[in-house]
Amino acid sequence: MREILSLEHVQLTDRPLIVCDIDEVVLEFLTPFRNFLRSSGHDLLARSFRLHGNIVLSADGLPVAESLVDDLLEEFFTLQDQWQTPATLAVETLESLAVEADLVFLTAMPPRHAVVRRSLLDHHRLHYPLLATEEPKGPVVKQLHDARDVPVVFIDDILRNLHSVRSHEPDCLLVNIMANAEFRAFAPEPGEGIAKAENWPDAARIIRQHFAR
Ligand SMILES: [Mg+2]
Repeated sequence: MREILSLEHVQLTDRPLIVCDIDEVVLEFLTPFRNFLRSSGHDLLARSFRLHGNIVLSADGLPVAESLVDDLLEEFFTLQDQWQTPATLAVETLESLAVEADLVFLTAMPPRHAVVRRSLLDHHRLHYPLLATEEPKGPVVKQLHDARDVPVVFIDDILRNLHSVRSHEPDCLLVNIMANAEFRAFAPEPGEGIAKAENWPDAARIIRQHFAR
């Protein structure tokens, strides 16, 4: 059964809208996930742009079974508040952008982890509304923005999500950003129509340029 996503707690004004992913964008994901894996005799090797196949048993360096990858991710998200911290300058940059735009977090995490994520975000002064859903992101952004006559921006590390938003909200500024430099080196080029930000100040510059148009 498809989940029904409630947008009731998201109150938008007539300012521009910034919809922002969380893992590997606002919060570090790969670095703390690797630290979590190392604490239990596993490791995450930066040798390609994927998790599966790169999560290994420290003892022999061999990839763990696919089902164990899912179990480890589930356990990590359950304990995320003990491991995850904000990406460099994410908190400060979002605080300054929130002066001129509405901000909404859209995370592809299973909704069962939303309560612990909410408290982790609040702990770091990231008090913006949170939507947690495993549904494609494009329809959610479209539903949120609802064809209003203000600029809209979507920020994510995963191209699949950026492409989903592009196909449902063609006027949306798409920004690709990724916290972990080691894995970023393996990331596919975003291609035409997607702005690649080196870091959060760079993302803010790209976004403000779009607002000024
Ligand atoms: Mg992400």
